Amino acid sequence: MTIKLYNTLGRKKQVFEPQDASRVTLYVCGPTVYNYSHIGNARPQVVFDILFRLLRRTYGEASVVYARNITDVEDKIIARSIEEGTPISDITQKYGAIYNADMVALNVLPPTIEPWATRHIDGMVRLTEQLVSKGYAYKSASGVFFDVSQMEDYGKLSGRNIEDNEAGARVAVSDEKRNPADFALWKLAKDGEPEEAIWDSPWGPGRPGWHIECSAMIAAHLGKTIDIHAGGIDLQFPHHENEIAQSECAHGEPMARYWLHNGFLDMDGEKMSKSLGNVKLIHDLLEDWPGEVLRFALLSGHYRAPLDWTRDLLEQAKTTLGRIYGALRRVWDAEGGTATDRSIDKALSDDLNTPVALAELSRLATEANQAADASDTAMMAKARAELLAAGERLGLLTLTPAEWEQGGSEDDKSRIDALVQARIDARASKDWAEADRIRDQLAAEGIEVMDGAGGSTWRRV
Ligand code: AMP
Ligand code: ZN
Repeated sequence: MTIKLYNTLGRKKQVFEPQDASRVTLYVCGPTVYNYSHIGNARPQVVFDILFRLLRRTYGEASVVYARNITDVEDKIIARSIEEGTPISDITQKYGAIYNADMVALNVLPPTIEPWATRHIDGMVRLTEQLVSKGYAYKSASGVFFDVSQMEDYGKLSGRNIEDNEAGARVAVSDEKRNPADFALWKLAKDGEPEEAIWDSPWGPGRPGWHIECSAMIAAHLGKTIDIHAGGIDLQFPHHENEIAQSECAHGEPMARYWLHNGFLDMDGEKMSKSLGNVKLIHDLLEDWPGEVLRFALLSGHYRAPLDWTRDLLEQAKTTLGRIYGALRRVWDAEGGTATDRSIDKALSDDLNTPVALAELSRLATEANQAADASDTAMMAKARAELLAAGERLGLLTLTPAEWEQGGSEDDKSRIDALVQARIDARASKDWAEADRIRDQLAAEGIEVMDGAGGSTWRRV
């Protein structure tokens, strides 16, 4: 199947052709790990997980190399470490693990490689040395800077030119920089900065700039020219522009052939961001909503369009997913069918059109209900296989229908399990009043207890 992707470089949808179909390379900029991630941060990870899955189906699992980095050295991490008196590595290990647990809860597949910036400092120093020796970078009092005036096509990704940057620059022009748009490749250590964030370099002890981290990790793991580089629209400028500047000036070849950018997740029409203070943390949302509902909600809009994060969006996602799980439950026992439907792949191959793919998933659920209504076992088996195959493509339907029906937080599930057990105990000791009281309490919460030969189970109704 032909995959078409909207390439920011060129600003149009293009047929995706990898350089080498036996080694398709994908890079997505990962998080800076110093606190909990918000659901906006998860949008690129979830939408490009859809792309990763699509590439694996198209080229074979072993033929797709996906790297998603962890930024574990950065001003905000250092500030937090000083403020709390906590070693940097404690902070980054803790929040790196929380981030990965959040990704698991959202059914985001682990990337092939997860490079951590501090393990690639040598590569960053080498890349900076190359840029200095080729005349693209210079040393000043506070570090080493990239000289944007030396690169002919600087600004080609975002369509900004250096003059625009200068006109609109809020970047302080200092004697440190030759041009306002110049950016740091190496930052010399300042007094009071933790040892942990200081490495030796030919220019003196210090640490790398943020942009050079990705350039070096990409070169180390994926190569000089990669197939797809992706991230949020806010990274287009300056981060991705500067990655291009560094990598292309050092290597003399294009950095990435396709650049993909997701739109913002908004709250009341404004970007969800830490600086605006309007964030919903993934960690907190997972207390109230199953991970698949959050994922479904994120996929309900096209990745390039802004998406407003509202309670209504979540309610709708939960209702729709519930209806699909309900259909899956009806055909659950009909095993052995074969999936042949290509509609989801067709939608996803068209620049990751997840809204259409989710509509197709709903259609498959309707077909499962029709097969169940007709008690057609062959159709039911086919419908079950189709739903599960579609789920695999979208990273949904990973629970059994019974697990879905018991959804909710782990704490809540344990509490309900304990109540159901208390009711079983009450019945065993013939305390019918207590057993009924517990059943009524559960019913009031919308929980139905089902007594069967194998014991009691429950579900939300
Ligand atoms: P940050 O932690 O701000 O560096 O962001 C990590 C990733 O999340 C980047 O790819 C950002 O572009 C992306 N991102 C941050 N905020 C949002 C948002 N509100 N909507 C969509 N993507 C976002
Ligand atoms: Zn990056």
